[in-house]
Amino acid sequence: MAQRVSRVLIVGGGIGGLSLASALRDRGLAVDLVELQKEWTVYGVGIIQQCNVVRAMADLGLVDRYLDAGFPFEAVGMYAPDGRLLAKIPGQRLAGPQYPANLGISRLALHTVLSGAALEKGTAVRLGTTVERLDQDDAGVDVTFSDGTTGRYDVVVGADGLYSRVRGLLFGPGEDGEYRPRFTGQSVWRHNFPRPPEIDHLAAFTGPDGNAGLCPLSHDLMYLFVTSEEPGNPRMPADQLHTLMRDRMKGFGGLIGALRDRITDPAQVVYKPMEVLMMPAPWYRGRVVLLGDAVHATTPHLGQGAGMAIEDAVVLAELLPQDAPLGDLLARYMERRYERCRFIVDSSIMVGEWEMARRHDVDRIGLVKKMLEVTAQPV
Ligand SMILES: Cc1cc2nc3c(=O)[nH]c(=O)nc-3n(C[C@H](O)[C@H](O)[C@H](O)COP(=O)(O)OP(=O)(O)OC[C@H]3O[C@@H](n4cnc5c(N)ncnc54)[C@H](O)[C@@H]3O)c2cc1C
Repeated sequence: MAQRVSRVLIVGGGIGGLSLASALRDRGLAVDLVELQKEWTVYGVGIIQQCNVVRAMADLGLVDRYLDAGFPFEAVGMYAPDGRLLAKIPGQRLAGPQYPANLGISRLALHTVLSGAALEKGTAVRLGTTVERLDQDDAGVDVTFSDGTTGRYDVVVGADGLYSRVRGLLFGPGEDGEYRPRFTGQSVWRHNFPRPPEIDHLAAFTGPDGNAGLCPLSHDLMYLFVTSEEPGNPRMPADQLHTLMRDRMKGFGGLIGALRDRITDPAQVVYKPMEVLMMPAPWYRGRVVLLGDAVHATTPHLGQGAGMAIEDAVVLAELLPQDAPLGDLLARYMERRYERCRFIVDSSIMVGEWEMARRHDVDRIGLVKKMLEVTAQPV
């Protein structure tokens, strides 16, 4: 009989790590979580959560508080740069007919829901801490933490994001740095605004040079995002972010154009270069396994990065407590996750490449429909 997993360390208290902590605690496993940040917080714009993510939150048993914290909506509207509606793609109520298809939620509200659940279910969280060393044998992993303490675990999960330290400890940089994030050539500019009544769904606008979108976050709030090509990934001066964002929006009319003139405070602009990574198999070595952006970081074009991290957590939490050799369980985790995540990463990168090549002959609406079909499949 295989030795069952009963004690898990999660490195990284972001979206994926917190989802996993909560799900493992529900199954009675002991969970320690270390988070690098001393003050556990997230930046203040929003995040799109589509049908499959609402279903995953139902699997985690968190859907009611999650829906209460955001703005539920049904359809995704695709618009021309001047604001003309091109298509409205209905969402599927994958979590059940009583739940909405999609949710817009502020990152802070999502963090509050996930960290609240993980803590109240008994996850032992240590902030301002990371792992220094991982030494594994057949029966466990000895961990040395950055504060000098040590611990022994059945499994260690690296949920420490795009620049994962756990990934580095396990696999190094790869040949020619292939396990390092790559800048795609584009960036995203984001800003919150009061929500007008007509933004009661995700509204995506294709512009001449990039795309823009409006996502409702609450009764009063929405956020605007705009993508742009930024050759060489220049450092953007913090005190100029408002004028730079306005400049990136000059090809848009309609509501996006009207919002452009209301961007006046650089401190309200959240700027982020797009970086991607798709780790080849395996995503684990021995008793240490990776999830979320640590192994599959995508661009935001299809709004699915956090969704994939949450789904990873659902699958891993279902498998880890099972009575089977750990190697088999981790292989099953990869089988269930790899192709789906690769589809999201590859398709998202492709949309960015279309934008940078100014391709307007492509079927973007068809790709969004395909993404919804693929992600509607069970995890
Ligand atoms: C501009 C932009 C827009 C996006 N929009 C969407 C969207 O609309 N919908 C969507 O689904 N996804 C979106 N995403 C993707 C989404 O944000 C990520 O995929 C998601 O946050 C990944 O979750 P994670 O838990 O893997 O990593 P993270 O959420 O990044 O969490 C990692 C955590 O680990 C911590 N950490 C880092 N290093 C260490 C260490 N050494 N030790 C301990 N802790 C550590 C970090 O502080 C952090 O708390 C977007 C991404 C970007 C860049």
